[in-house]
Amino acid sequence: MITFENKKFRMKNIGKIILSILIISAVGYRLSSPNKKQEIKKPKNIILLIGDGMGLSEVSASYFFKDSTPNFDRFTTIGLIKTSAADALVCDSAASATAFATGVATYNGAIAVDMQKKPVPTIIEKIIPMNISTGIISTSSIMHATPASFYAHADSRKSYQDIATFLPTSKIDFIAGGGTKFLDKDNREDARDLYKEFEDNGYEVQTNSLPNTTTDKKQAIFLAEDGMGKMLEGRGDFLPNATKIALDKLSKNENGFFLMVEGSQIDWGGHDNDADYLITELLDFDKTIGVALDFAAKNAETLVIVTADHETGGFTLAADDGDYNKIKPTFSTTGHSATMVPIFTTGPGENNFGGIFKNTALFQKMMDLFN
Ligand code: MG
Ligand code: ZN
Repeated sequence: MITFENKKFRMKNIGKIILSILIISAVGYRLSSPNKKQEIKKPKNIILLIGDGMGLSEVSASYFFKDSTPNFDRFTTIGLIKTSAADALVCDSAASATAFATGVATYNGAIAVDMQKKPVPTIIEKIIPMNISTGIISTSSIMHATPASFYAHADSRKSYQDIATFLPTSKIDFIAGGGTKFLDKDNREDARDLYKEFEDNGYEVQTNSLPNTTTDKKQAIFLAEDGMGKMLEGRGDFLPNATKIALDKLSKNENGFFLMVEGSQIDWGGHDNDADYLITELLDFDKTIGVALDFAAKNAETLVIVTADHETGGFTLAADDGDYNKIKPTFSTTGHSATMVPIFTTGPGENNFGGIFKNTALFQKMMDLFN
């Protein structure tokens, strides 16, 4: 009896122990498995490519008007961004780039300032002290709304001369785009010599052509008085080539880098309601996306993000007068539209960029990966 009882007792206890082990393992498994999912692999480098004015119809156009498969096809996570500004349903490039660069919702025309016109820190200003390298490239002037919102602070996007003064002390490692007319002493109301200020701050400035090699110095390259020429007028491979040089330079930093590349003139083609202008700029941007993705393929710690600030032109790929085998690119406005814009990502951390979110959310999503 006792033995039996003992045996029973022992069996009961062994049973309890086994059961406990099972429960503990199950709970342990439950605890550890979501943790594994939350454990986001972080990138070292982020390349953010902004197609100004590039809505879904613009992206779709690359599938109809490019001879080979567009680089958009290579992304693995897709989302949508709600583009409104703080003070308007339809956003401009300044409020949108400010949202991307600072996470702050603001008014149309604002360059990295909030609704009270108070400067707000940009992603570039926040990561430079973390010894992360930075670069900005644009086919507009570097003082234009989209790139400006990443390094300057101004009440109005039109204050080009003021915006330019932020550049020599910006500590951005690689700058390429247009804008000499805002730098030239003779054009400036304050007669400041910004070229000299660049040199005093350790920059090598070039105004003739893209260099073939990178230097150890910070590089600032300005190849047009204002915006760069159009693709239709023979701009050539400025954007993909500048991106290649920037990646070569910035990737030398073991701490990583952030590079913003803008296809500025997709927007200008939209404003002009000029489908040829829009599509040639779009295909140039797609080629540049290819350069970023090729780099990421060889440098696995790189997250590539492609998105737009807003849509321009109310562009659609309409059937041509009822002919469903013929597309007639059509515009509904010479301004911007309120449609959501796509966001494409691939690389470590890409899972954070799916779904539908506001333009202001992009900043924190990127910062979380650098922190
Ligand atoms: Mg722009
Ligand atoms: Zn625009």
